[in-house]
Amino acid sequence: MRTLQLQTGIIYGPIRSRRLGFSLGINLLPTGYKLCNFNCLYCHYGFTKRHTNDASSCISDLPSVEQVRKSLTDWLEGNPQHIDYITFSGNGEPCLHLEFGKMVEVTQKIRDEMVPHAKLAILSNSTCLNRERVLDGLKKLDVRIMKLDCGTEKTFQKINRPCTGVQFEKVVENLKKLEDIIIQSVFVEGRVNNTKEEEIDKWIERLSYIKPREVQIYSIDRPSADEGLSLVGKDKLNQIARKAEEACGILVKVF
Ligand code: SF4
Repeated sequence: MRTLQLQTGIIYGPIRSRRLGFSLGINLLPTGYKLCNFNCLYCHYGFTKRHTNDASSCISDLPSVEQVRKSLTDWLEGNPQHIDYITFSGNGEPCLHLEFGKMVEVTQKIRDEMVPHAKLAILSNSTCLNRERVLDGLKKLDVRIMKLDCGTEKTFQKINRPCTGVQFEKVVENLKKLEDIIIQSVFVEGRVNNTKEEEIDKWIERLSYIKPREVQIYSIDRPSADEGLSLVGKDKLNQIARKAEEACGILVKVF
């Protein structure tokens, strides 16, 4: 089975999302390749082409603030359909964009003027929270959905496969400092398995420490970069959710 095609523009959708309703996507990343500081085995866009923590070498492939402003305004003017969310996501990690903070400011202004009912959200892998411009931008969003798939550096290396310079313990520390977040976690079996009891216990320990307002868990529902992974069934996901809720008193939703 083939992985998904990359997004071909700055604005995409709206996608009917299980978690966000009608979500209009903003892709702050290149359209010709995936740019990410992770190379997750389960990524539905396939393996990462540009695996880096520093997007400055790709700057000519990234959209400018003006391009994002124009694309979003044009789309909203031309499409009267209802949207629930405007969501930063796309072909990699959105916070790697060097002007992420400005992108949020511009988007917020357009949202306020043109679709004030819509919320601003992000799907992020949680790795850029040590950057001032990123933190400022994230704090302005209505919903921050941040990735944490495991509780140990070892499993982090196996599943998310970060580039040099990204350390699991620092990711956890930075998530703890960011208020009012939703943690999203993907569970897989097969070549890598983050559903074993000791793995789940470590993940729950991290949740107790970070104290997100909610946790959203799911398994792969599309072709993955690595074909050696398999889906975790709903029964097992429900068991993981109940165990985490009982242990740390945080709402855990299964999708
Ligand atoms: S963080 Fe997201 S975009 Fe990056 S490799 Fe993982 S799933 Fe893909």
